[in-house]
Amino acid sequence: MMTLKGMTLEELENYFIIINQPKYRAKQVFNWLYNHNVSSYDLMNNIPKDLRNYLTENTNFDTLTTEKIKFDDIEYTQKIVYNTLDDKKIETVIIPDKDRVTLCISTQVGCPLDCKFCATGQFGYKRNLSAGEIVDQYFITQRSLKQKITNIVYMGMGEPFINFDATLKSLDIFTNELATKLSRHHITVSTVGIPDKIIKLADSKYRVKLALSLHSCFDEIRSKIMPINKKYPLNDVIDALKYYSQKTGQRITFEYTMLDGINDRLEDINALVKLTKQLPSKVNIIPFNSIEHMIKDPNSLSAQLRPTSREKIEEFANILRDKNVTALVRNTQGNKIKAACGQLALAND
Ligand code: SAH
Repeated sequence: MMTLKGMTLEELENYFIIINQPKYRAKQVFNWLYNHNVSSYDLMNNIPKDLRNYLTENTNFDTLTTEKIKFDDIEYTQKIVYNTLDDKKIETVIIPDKDRVTLCISTQVGCPLDCKFCATGQFGYKRNLSAGEIVDQYFITQRSLKQKITNIVYMGMGEPFINFDATLKSLDIFTNELATKLSRHHITVSTVGIPDKIIKLADSKYRVKLALSLHSCFDEIRSKIMPINKKYPLNDVIDALKYYSQKTGQRITFEYTMLDGINDRLEDINALVKLTKQLPSKVNIIPFNSIEHMIKDPNSLSAQLRPTSREKIEEFANILRDKNVTALVRNTQGNKIKAACGQLALAND
């Protein structure tokens, strides 16, 4: 059965025309779905009863279900496991922090990319999420949460730029002024770096924030820990990011997970300084979170990865700052419940 969730305003307009309804129904339903975030057609009180019945019979309303439906006021990072209607599981993470609440959403069931430090890659790949499944992580979570979600990061399972069309549609919905009222400055898409998609996003009207999972400035090392780098070498990615930054006037965030002996050496600092001078940017340093729960082969590179010590991370960040690089050490949240960066893989449930 089809679902309206995930349709853009134009798509809803086409849909209502096809079922012989006036075009303005699209705007009304759009408003109910993405602004009022109602939980059923019955609540759409300016839609005629017959049409509501028709929609209830012919479309699915929510695209995801979850066992846990009340989150209330959450104080700590919390992972939600959502079931898709074809019974696949995905993970969404709520991260409260001072005056903001960030929602970390997935774009795929699993991930095809096999980054050696990431649990999702070890888990494998099932399929892309639909635009409806991407946005419903926000809408359903928000419905059951007292606090208001203020930020969205595309940093859950999967690579948004491999599921580009659905990702763009979800951005269209999130940034539509008639919808969530989330500002594009509060939405970050994170990618391994696929140049033509970075350029496409730059040329679109969705000028959200962009983060690159960098992890090494050296192609040889980056290719070992992120095999996708063989296909899209760093120079091409950086050129695309320069374009993104020029076109959107935004600073690029480089995510940098600290791996002992692999990317935490003095030459890595120097390379990072050189790189960040090339474009408006900042570095988000992420302590490496264990993916032990996912390791299958004890001799694999994944099994050998170790976190850089806390002291060394601080020193690394301080040297960067001394050299005028904006560097932030992200505090690790959600480790206990395997909801921290790179740990999403459903091994714990
Ligand atoms: N595919 C996208 C979205 C996933 S984002 C991307 O790669 O950007 C997930 C973020 O967490 C990325 O910055 C990723 O590099 C980082 N990450 C992955 N595994 C990690 C781990 N074990 N510890 C800490 N950070 C990790």
